[in-house]
Amino acid sequence: MSESTRGPEQVVVVGAGECGTRAAMALRERGFTGEITLLGREEVIAYERPPLSKAALAADDPELVHPWTEEALAEAGISLRLGVEVTAIDREGRTVETTDGPVPYDRLVLATGAGPRRLGLDHVHYLRTHADAATLRDLVRRGGRLLVVGAGFIGLEIAAGARERGMEVVVVEAADRALARMVPSVVADRVVALHAEHGVTVRTGTTVTSVERHAEGLRAALSTGEGLEVDAVVAGVGAAPHTEIASAAGLLVEDGIVVDEQLRTSDPRIWAAGDCAAFPDARSGHRVRVESWRSAHDQAVTVAASMTGGQEPHVAVPWFWSDQYDQMLQTAGLPTTAVTEVVRERADGSLIHFGLDAGGRLVAATSLGRGPVVAKDIRVAEQLIATRATPDPAALADPGVALRSLR
Ligand SMILES: Cc1cc2nc3c(=O)[nH]c(=O)nc-3n(C[C@H](O)[C@H](O)[C@H](O)COP(=O)(O)OP(=O)(O)OC[C@H]3O[C@@H](n4cnc5c(N)ncnc54)[C@H](O)[C@@H]3O)c2cc1C
Repeated sequence: MSESTRGPEQVVVVGAGECGTRAAMALRERGFTGEITLLGREEVIAYERPPLSKAALAADDPELVHPWTEEALAEAGISLRLGVEVTAIDREGRTVETTDGPVPYDRLVLATGAGPRRLGLDHVHYLRTHADAATLRDLVRRGGRLLVVGAGFIGLEIAAGARERGMEVVVVEAADRALARMVPSVVADRVVALHAEHGVTVRTGTTVTSVERHAEGLRAALSTGEGLEVDAVVAGVGAAPHTEIASAAGLLVEDGIVVDEQLRTSDPRIWAAGDCAAFPDARSGHRVRVESWRSAHDQAVTVAASMTGGQEPHVAVPWFWSDQYDQMLQTAGLPTTAVTEVVRERADGSLIHFGLDAGGRLVAATSLGRGPVVAKDIRVAEQLIATRATPDPAALADPGVALRSLR
């Protein structure tokens, strides 16, 4: 079909989670007047996943938190089609194949998210969707002994939630420490100590080799040769980006759909954002994939800007939080891109860890403590990271120096 006979421009967004839905809305906010079709495999309109391992685990009958209503999307002229999976991208014919027939596009956004990595063992639960959360909540309500596999954010949040609801909890982790992927060890050690205070043991360097059901429950065999008698097993061992349709269509994929600084893929008609995308970090230049609620929103906004003629690169500082017991952990920036570390201990016993790059620029800050203090310091640190500040390490370490005064 020639350009002139195709009618108004058609943008198709694949994945109706937070990133895809935000991208569709942001396109309208930027004045895009063509057609927008939002295709989502799940049967429900976008909902926030972070509460699934936090408040939704603690509450008896939690409501899903929907950032947008179906009415708001309809008013914005966005055609939302739920329960529809995109099975292939025909780049030549500019059409996506779906479980509900082909859908033509002029430009395409891939916001397909990620899914839990699987252990290949029986009787193991995972947490990604609201349905997973409902299953997990029932299981936690029944009480007993829970084995959590993986001491990452999701595993540790589940451990804290289950413990607070009275379960006996053991966490096993294959790596030699908890939170190894994103959190500096000094902060991770504090998180593990917090769990120990609540009676939850984190056993590192340990994997689960089998899980078998017997009359009284489950028996999990550990790599140490021990057997654990438990009532349930849940794993949080990382997430794998949904890249299958992108790879099959010949787009560049390397632990995520590879995009440039405007989040465009190797095909100039296709953008990718959120948990599925691997983008160049504006500060380090490293290609990264960030699984974070705010990054999903920020990247959606960058995509909409780029699709409507904006030239701005994606510069938002990655930001992440986690709630465990009465403590909050927040990270701004990317700790993995730091070469020097500085720790500030606060008078209340909490701490903030700073990461600096080889040029002395602040590139990351991670804090654990009471929510308001953590939030305030990380907000300031985020601004310092965004402005590429080169603060004096001695001043960073000194709790008597206001972070606001640093440059
Ligand atoms: C339990 C849990 C707790 C979390 N806690 C935090 C937290 O405390 N802080 C934080 O910052 N982040 C947290 N996150 C991460 C955050 O929720 C994600 O980064 C965010 O949801 C990413 O949004 P997304 O739209 O990119 O992906 P998703 O939310 O995964 O949405 C992608 C959607 O695309 C759909 N899809 C995939 N493939 C197709 C296809 N081929 N066709 C049609 N549809 C498709 C999927 O079904 C899904 O609905 C948490 C995540 C989970 C699971």
